[in-house]
Amino acid sequence: MSSQSRPLSAAAFEKARGLIPGGVNSPARAFGAVGGNPIFVARASGPYLYDLDGNRYLDFIQSWGPMILGHAHPAVVEAAISAVRDGSSYGAPCERETELAELVTAAIPSVEMVRFVSSGTEAAMSAIRLARGYTGRDLVIKFAGCYHGHVDSLLVAAGSSALTLGVPNSPGVPVGCTRDTLVLQYNDVAGLAEVFAAKGDQIAGVILEPVVGNMGLIEPTAEFRKELRRLTRHHGALLIYDEVMTGFRLAFGGAQALYRDTPDITVLGKIIGGGYPVGAYGGRADVMKKILPAGPVFQAGTLSGNPVAMAAGVATLTELKRNPPYARLEQMGADLVNGLKQAATAAGVPHQVNRVGSMWTFFFTGQPVTDFASAMTSDKARFAKFFWAMMDRGFYLPCSQFEAAFLCTAMTDEHMNQTVAAAREAMKEVV
Ligand code: PMP
Repeated sequence: MSSQSRPLSAAAFEKARGLIPGGVNSPARAFGAVGGNPIFVARASGPYLYDLDGNRYLDFIQSWGPMILGHAHPAVVEAAISAVRDGSSYGAPCERETELAELVTAAIPSVEMVRFVSSGTEAAMSAIRLARGYTGRDLVIKFAGCYHGHVDSLLVAAGSSALTLGVPNSPGVPVGCTRDTLVLQYNDVAGLAEVFAAKGDQIAGVILEPVVGNMGLIEPTAEFRKELRRLTRHHGALLIYDEVMTGFRLAFGGAQALYRDTPDITVLGKIIGGGYPVGAYGGRADVMKKILPAGPVFQAGTLSGNPVAMAAGVATLTELKRNPPYARLEQMGADLVNGLKQAATAAGVPHQVNRVGSMWTFFFTGQPVTDFASAMTSDKARFAKFFWAMMDRGFYLPCSQFEAAFLCTAMTDEHMNQTVAAAREAMKEVV
C-alpha cells in the first residue's frame, strides 16, 4: 500500500491544505518527518483507526496517549452523551469538576488540590506562572528535548514536533520570553548541580517529563531524580513533573507513583479527559492556594472544567481504578518489545528500544538513548522506511522517531504477535 492507495485521504489532505496551515491543526500529525500524506481518520473503535479509504490500522498512537481504554470505550461514550444532554458548558461550577478532582487527588497524593484547564499547554503555562508567583523568582529550568506544549517560555530546545520539524526555537517567541528559561541536558546531574550552585536563589522551578515521551521514550536515572528533589528543596525552588503523557498511564498515580517521587506541582492532560480537551495542574495545597480567586496568581478559562470533558475523565479514571490494566499493559509491552528486538537483530538492524509500561520507542541506533544528543544518533531515514512498511501492513506508529508509541487496554497478545510478525517483514525492507 502506498499513499496512492489512499486516494480519499490524499484528496481530503489536499483540500485541507488550502484552508488549514499544512492541512493539520497540530504539526505532530502531519507526517512531516516520514514524507507522504497523513491518513484522514473516518472513525476509531477499540484499538483500531479506520481511514477514509476504508483501511484499518492497529493504532499505536491512541491520540498521543489519552485513549488508554481504546477508542470509543462504551463507558466513556455513555458518560459523554449523558453529560451533553445536561448542557455542554455553563461558565459556572458543577459537581462533575469536584468529582474528577476527587479522583485525581486520591490517585496522586502530591496533588492536594487541582485546577482544570483545557489543554496540556495551558496547564504547563499555568504551572510555570504559579511557580514564579509562589517563589517570587523568575528563572525556570527545563531539559533539552522535553516538550511542555507551545508555551512561549518553554519553546526552547523543545521536543515533539518542535524537534521533529526542526524548529526548536520558534519565530514569534521574543527573546525576552525565553530569557528566564535555562536549558539543561536530561539526566545531567553535574549540570544541574552547577546551575543551582550559581543561581539557586533565583530559580523558581524545574520542569521535566518524569519519563520523557517527546524525544522518543527516555527514562530518568535514579540519581537524576534524587538530585532534582534534593536541589530544588534545598534552594526553595519548586519541582514540577509534567505528567501530561505519563499520568494515569505508567501507573494510576503516574510516573511519580512508579518511582515514589513527590513533586511540588504536577501537570496533567490527555487521559484525565478521556479524549476530550482537558489539562490540569495540581500540587501542594499551600502552593495551589496562590491561584485566583484563592490567591493572587491569575489564571482563568471559559471552558475550564467543561462538564462533558469532566464526565469523560471521570468515566476513564473510574474504569482504570476498577480494572487496573497496568500489569497486563506491562506484560504486553515487554512481549512486544522483545519481539521487535528479535526482529531487528534477525535483520541486522542496529537498535535501542526504550520502554516503561505501555510507552515505548524503537530507536534506529546502536547506542543507549539517555538524552537529546543520544536520541539524535538515530537513523531517521531508516525510521521513515520502517514507518511506511508498517503502515502498509496496517500498523499506525508515531510518525516521528522522536515520539513515544502507546498501547491501550483494547489490545491483546494476539495484536502484539501480529505487530511483531509485521515488523519482521518490515525490518527486511529497511536494510
Ligand atoms: N506536556 C507533555 C509532556 C506533552 O506530551 C504534551 C503534548 N503531547 C503537552 C505538555 C501539551 O499538551 P497539549 O497538546 O494538550 O497542549
